[in-house]
Amino acid sequence: MTGWLAIAGLGPGDEALVTPEVTQAVADATDIVGYIPYVARIAPRDGLTLHPSDNRVELDRARHALDMAMQGRRVVVVSSGDPGVFAMASAVFEALEDAPQYHALDIRVLPGITAMLAAAAHAGAPLGHDFCAINLSDNLKPWELIEHRLRLAAQAGFAMAFYNPRSASRPAGFPRVLDILREECGQGRLITFARAVSTPDERIETVTLAEATPEMADMRTVVIVGNADTRRVGRWVYTPRRAG
Ligand code: SAH
Repeated sequence: MTGWLAIAGLGPGDEALVTPEVTQAVADATDIVGYIPYVARIAPRDGLTLHPSDNRVELDRARHALDMAMQGRRVVVVSSGDPGVFAMASAVFEALEDAPQYHALDIRVLPGITAMLAAAAHAGAPLGHDFCAINLSDNLKPWELIEHRLRLAAQAGFAMAFYNPRSASRPAGFPRVLDILREECGQGRLITFARAVSTPDERIETVTLAEATPEMADMRTVVIVGNADTRRVGRWVYTPRRAG
């Protein structure tokens, strides 16, 4: 049996947003590897072994998946959203750096719909012009770098999407982010809190920075800040395609 490894994005939650390519890879797989809540989205069946693991063990998880593929198994590493956006694809390539014995393996990255795109779609079109994405977790980078990028992105006039905005272990970070945004963008700038997008718990709320409070975000929220032209129309929010 020829082994392979697919690193697949399961999308933001709704089954209708899983690509046919990912569905096929899961149907062909012998093993599914990933963080516990993502593996829980895969229906068990005969011949399929599920390998859920805790967060923060990305490299071990990647090596385990590569080992199984080398042994001839058909392995899908699952991420939520897109596997290349703050997720497992980079961890697999990092594991490959010091493991040339894996380089001949059949490895594919299967894209998925990332949280910010699903959130933007459900809010209207807040990312309709130039934008950037910033991970607000300081688990893997210093807080100073987050603040630096945030200020420069705001000054450059980008709309911004923030992943991992707020968690119990980092209570001070997001209030600070809101303060910096008010300083750089002004009180009237629109900010959208999109929680659990495409699931039954979905809640999307757009307010001004003056009205925004830290409690509006949690770890199931992606936050989108518009640019200076972002505006409301009816119940939607959008960014015009023209600028300057
Ligand atoms: N690879 C994922 C991101 C993983 S980081 C992707 O492409 O979407 C985890 C963060 O993604 C969460 O803290 C949250 O900010 C965001 N996120 C993931 N799924 C979400 C959803 N359904 N609704 C809102 N935000 C989501």
